[in-house]
Amino acid sequence: MTFTDLNLSKSILQALSEKGYEEPTSIQEQAIPHILDDRDILGCAQTGTGKTAAFSLPIIQKVNRYKELHKHHHGILSLIVSPTRELALQIDESIRSYSKYTNIKHTVIFGGVNQNQQVRKLQKGIDILTATPGRLLDLIQQGFVDLSQVKFFVLDEADRMLDMGFIHDIRKIIDYLPRKRQSLFFSATIPDNIITLSQSILTNPVKIEV
Ligand code: AMP
Repeated sequence: MTFTDLNLSKSILQALSEKGYEEPTSIQEQAIPHILDDRDILGCAQTGTGKTAAFSLPIIQKVNRYKELHKHHHGILSLIVSPTRELALQIDESIRSYSKYTNIKHTVIFGGVNQNQQVRKLQKGIDILTATPGRLLDLIQQGFVDLSQVKFFVLDEADRMLDMGFIHDIRKIIDYLPRKRQSLFFSATIPDNIITLSQSILTNPVKIEV
């Protein structure tokens, strides 16, 4: 199987070829067709499996298509929530490299630093936002982030999120999202509390394990 078989657009294929990716990893091969097909995903996968590209590539493609069809759209189209600053930065960096031949605008917000630079970036208009839970809620509550236009939501490393005590933050964030959306949920382990959380986020998900 090649990335071309996965029906990814030319602009994405060009970026992947420059990165030297030759073929999709197992999770990419399994998840990308379902994500392009608008399905919710419950993915059991560790870091290192190519999970970030598995959700980023189809999201970049769908956001790009949405922007082409809705030229005057304003507002964040995709939200990716990640437990730590390091992971959030890595995800945003992946999105930067995979979307370099599109005109997608993306940024990352996280706590522990002054918010002003992050707010300035948000004010320019963002299509794909990667965020850690605390700073995201802060900026929502101050009116700098509006999630009402989000079509594609990713919760990454859900088990770590719960271990770090983010369950209430996650539930609050979900309350700000439109009900009609596509949701992708990734966790390295799927204990009972993760099943319960996933059921409150996902609709008829495709389950994928690698
Ligand atoms: P992740 O599991 O998303 O953190 O990805 C692990 C590493 O694998 C990252 O450094 C990616 O750049 C790399 N990677 C992801 N997908 C592929 C692929 N299809 N071919 C080669 N490297 C990849």
